[in-house]
Amino acid sequence: MRQIITPKNMCISCGACVFASSGKIQLEENKSVGMYLPNIIQKLSNQELITIKNICPANGYKINSISKKLFDKKSEYDYRIGRYLNIVAVKSCSNKLLEKASSGSIMTALSMYLLDNKIVQGIAATIFTYNYDKVIPTTRIFTSSSDLLRTQGSKYMPVPALMVLDEIINFEGKVAFIGTPCQIAGLRLIQDNNPLLKEKIILTIGNFCGGFKDLRELNRLRTIAKMRKENIIHFQYRGDGQPGKMLFQSKSGKKWERSYTRYGGLTGYMKHYRCRVCIDATAELADISCGDAWLPRFLNNGGNWSVVIVRNPEIQEYLSRMESDSIIKLEKIGIEELVFSQKENLTSKKERYLSRNNFLKKTGHTLPVFDSGWNEKMNKSFFYEAKVYYAQLFKYYMEKIRLYSLLRLMVKTIIKD
Ligand SMILES: Cc1cc2nc3c(=O)[nH]c(=O)nc-3n(C[C@H](O)[C@H](O)[C@H](O)COP(=O)(O)OP(=O)(O)OC[C@H]3O[C@@H](n4cnc5c(N)ncnc54)[C@H](O)[C@@H]3O)c2cc1C
Repeated sequence: MRQIITPKNMCISCGACVFASSGKIQLEENKSVGMYLPNIIQKLSNQELITIKNICPANGYKINSISKKLFDKKSEYDYRIGRYLNIVAVKSCSNKLLEKASSGSIMTALSMYLLDNKIVQGIAATIFTYNYDKVIPTTRIFTSSSDLLRTQGSKYMPVPALMVLDEIINFEGKVAFIGTPCQIAGLRLIQDNNPLLKEKIILTIGNFCGGFKDLRELNRLRTIAKMRKENIIHFQYRGDGQPGKMLFQSKSGKKWERSYTRYGGLTGYMKHYRCRVCIDATAELADISCGDAWLPRFLNNGGNWSVVIVRNPEIQEYLSRMESDSIIKLEKIGIEELVFSQKENLTSKKERYLSRNNFLKKTGHTLPVFDSGWNEKMNKSFFYEAKVYYAQLFKYYMEKIRLYSLLRLMVKTIIKD
């Protein structure tokens, strides 16, 4: 029988299984689903298969019990954001950092602070590398602040970030890991049985996450941007102010840009299935989590602010020192303000969790298993969830037969008239 770690539509391409398999699994790009999927190249023993399935975050994880074990008992708990010590809004004081950041550049500013003050010797972060017209997310250890500038910007795509774990094992020094909620969950599951990685990765910096679309979206955008067969030298999903813009740049000087989030409407691709059934909106297992301050008082005040959830008292201390040293501006915000700034994502992940799962279960879908973290009341009707699901599916099939752009144009014309 074929061995599988998780069904294709559940895999998030994090690379946890590759690390745990000691060379028996490789990640390969699967063009039909647009993900980097595990390919088992050497049969796993039953015990190995069970171990790997257990550290695969795509299958779900005990988000509440793990966070209870990780974070200070003095922290507060709210099902919408998990455990927290403090919630603040932050903006870097460096214009150079803000230029290419997604929001307030706290993820990069904090990483630089950790390196410059020798709290860690390396930061595991992600850059894009380019192979002719292809854009490839690559996670590496960075040891200097100047190199970290290259890592800025959100990558709204599958990123095999945990492929960096072997490099971390062989690295001399302590490391902070930057990643998405599911990558950090995978890391926590691995660390649980790997004392060396626990010792080496001393801090985790997570981003809030509303999910990503698979590689087929990026490939389609390359076509729309007429960047296929161009030698791409720069790509970004975001940057140049908040909300920022997508940008392709080629060696021949060709440029194509669209504002964030406008480019998202150019194709009919929907978010990856596993992202649509995720419970973790704010990286609840990270020591610090960072998102956009989608709040009028910050957006109307120059923009480029992040909202931040602090779970580790050491990070709290570093932020205070960074504020005193004028590295960042910091403002206290309340939990309801944070929830308001993330309304769409939290409504989808936390409020609709039960009603969506009810619909998906009854229609035969596979679901990840979590131990809590959702509103216990059924928020929407079966009919509402069916409507959302089939509307997304319709757009997706229109895209597959390449009629989505035409449909979009027709709808736009009708609305204008
Ligand atoms: C897939 C995804 C979905 C998101 N959804 C939301 C959302 O719904 N709401 C919200 O408020 N914020 C969301 N964010 C977070 C937001 O885009 C910014 O990351 C956050 O505001 C911090 O900005 P910054 O200016 O501090 O980051 P920057 O200074 O730009 O640094 C970003 C850091 O994150 C790393 N990184 C970026 N993408 C990835 C990735 N896919 N995997 C691993 N590392 C990565 C970069 O390498 C860099 O080190 C999402 C981010 C991602 C990657």
